[in-house]
Amino acid sequence: MATTAMSGNPAVLMRLVASSYTVAEKAGAIVRRVLQKGELGIVEKTGANDLQTLADRLVQQSICASLSKSFPKITIIGEEDLPEEAVDEDLIESRQSEEVLQKPCPAEYSALKEEELVVWVDPLDGTKEYTEGLLDHVTVLIGIAYGGKAIAGVINQPFFNYQLGTESANMGRTLWGMPRVGAFGFDLQEVPDGRRIVTTTRSHSNKLVTDTVEAMEPDDVIRVGGAGNKIIQLVEGKASAYVFASLGTKKWDTCAPEAILHAVGGKLTDMHGNALCYDANVKHMNSAGVLATLHNHQYYTSRVPQSVLQALKP
Ligand code: AMP
Ligand code: MG
Ligand code: MG
Repeated sequence: MATTAMSGNPAVLMRLVASSYTVAEKAGAIVRRVLQKGELGIVEKTGANDLQTLADRLVQQSICASLSKSFPKITIIGEEDLPEEAVDEDLIESRQSEEVLQKPCPAEYSALKEEELVVWVDPLDGTKEYTEGLLDHVTVLIGIAYGGKAIAGVINQPFFNYQLGTESANMGRTLWGMPRVGAFGFDLQEVPDGRRIVTTTRSHSNKLVTDTVEAMEPDDVIRVGGAGNKIIQLVEGKASAYVFASLGTKKWDTCAPEAILHAVGGKLTDMHGNALCYDANVKHMNSAGVLATLHNHQYYTSRVPQSVLQALKP
């Protein structure tokens, strides 16, 4: 990938996406390196199903320090609660993706200012799976919001192609997308006609989740880790709907995925069918669950049991 140290693109949004792309690539390299060294440094946050590793910590430092160095006035909200401390110089990435810079900025966003943008960072999505060796479930998520809406997203999948061996030059990839610009880094595919395949959590299930999945009358159910990973399944034709009728995901889990899904005509809402808000002061928890589809969103919202809707208040 061509990168540049300085950009001629005047639109701050495109420069921010171009930085997010290279910063996410560096993040992916950090995630691989920590695993290779073998010292994961696992910490339980709220419990055994809510973990943080050295990779989550280093990647969050890398992304937040890199973006705030280049864009000092943006608001960055990262998942991990870390002490304020100086970040190692070798964690800072200041280059920008030439591929992104070459895209024109949609006219409505061309005059946006840094201070109007909010960046939601999940340094490592699928941490539980990372610690269990389910490596392709892991992603790094950088979502950009303006006016409460997800307007750009970058997803790095550090172990894409890992079955080819850890020495493979083709391991890892970066997907990105912006409504009205496009989606890149993958080939858009759809589930074969008539099949209803639901993807959902493997490690955070409960009765609300399973009742709702059943109510969708799926032909097949896939249980995998990670919000980013499940959105990749939607856009690559492996699943028709991501159904998670529970609290548990946060704004950093859904912002980047939502932007990419939107860019290809899909939809991400809560279980009531309501849009999520990504303003800086919003509650982090997606309390009313997550429902994401490429098509037929209305079918899935119509199937959610009343009891589930009552239990899941926004
Ligand atoms: P999953 O589909 O279970 O991999 O969850 C997607 C994202 O939401 C991951 O970042 C999880 O850590 C987070 N998540 C979902 N449910 C919970 C929960 N009950 N507690 C903590 N994090 C959760
Ligand atoms: Mg996550
Ligand atoms: Mg995370």
